[in-house]
This record gives sequence, structure tokens and C-alpha cells, in this order.
Amino acid sequence: MDTIMAPPATHQETSPPPLDLQLRAEARSLVEAIDGRGICSGSHDNRWFAQGMTRRKARILCGPCPVPFECLRLAVLEEALAIHAFGGSVHDLHGARGGVTGRDRSQPVKELVERLKADASHRR
Ligand code: SF4
Repeated sequence: MDTIMAPPATHQETSPPPLDLQLRAEARSLVEAIDGRGICSGSHDNRWFAQGMTRRKARILCGPCPVPFECLRLAVLEEALAIHAFGGSVHDLHGARGGVTGRDRSQPVKELVERLKADASHRR
């Protein structure tokens, strides 16, 4: 009598890609979603990059922009990835992105840098 053999196990546990690669992919998607629609895009107006940006000024500058949420998420991703890869400090963040000052982006950027470090060290 033939016996029915179970097929060999093909299921392999797969781990997710490194966090930095996931975040880079998300950043690329956001760039595509924004698609140059930010009101500062292509502008040589450097008011958005001024040191000493106040919350009020950041809100006013970005207020009419159609993509503030995408822009803010992209800023946090880019800044965290840059600090993780090249060093630097969240205290050096400046300018208005997504209507939010560098100082106000520093906490989410710091948290993301910590997650990137933890992910990298977990994979060693
Ligand atoms: S939210 Fe502000 S910084 Fe971002 S694209 Fe719009 S105008 Fe530029």
C-alpha cells in the first residue's frame, strides 16, 4: 500500500528587511507622492531653511502647502536616516518642514534613530 508522504517543509522563517531599507523605500514612496507639489519645491527661497525658525513662522510658511503630512514624515525619515548613517545631532535640525520646526522634529527623529540603531545591532 502506498503511503502518502508529507511534502518537505518549504516554509522558512523570513525576517523583515533591515529597518533602514524599509525606511528608504518609504521615503522614495513619499517623494513620488509629493511629486514636487510642495509650495517650496524648486524655489530658491531660503526662508524655509532659516535658523531660529519659530513654530508660528513654520506654520505660516507651510500653511498653504497641499502636502504637509507627507512632507513632515519624509523630513523625519530623511533626518533620522542621515544621522544614523553619517552621525550628527538632532539638535542641529532646523528649518520648517511640514509646518514643523527642526526643534519640534527632534523627538520623533531621535526615536527613529534609536530604532535604527537597535535594528542594526540586533542583526549583527
Ligand atoms: S510642507 Fe512646507 S516644507 Fe513641506 S513641501 Fe510644503 S511648503 Fe515645503
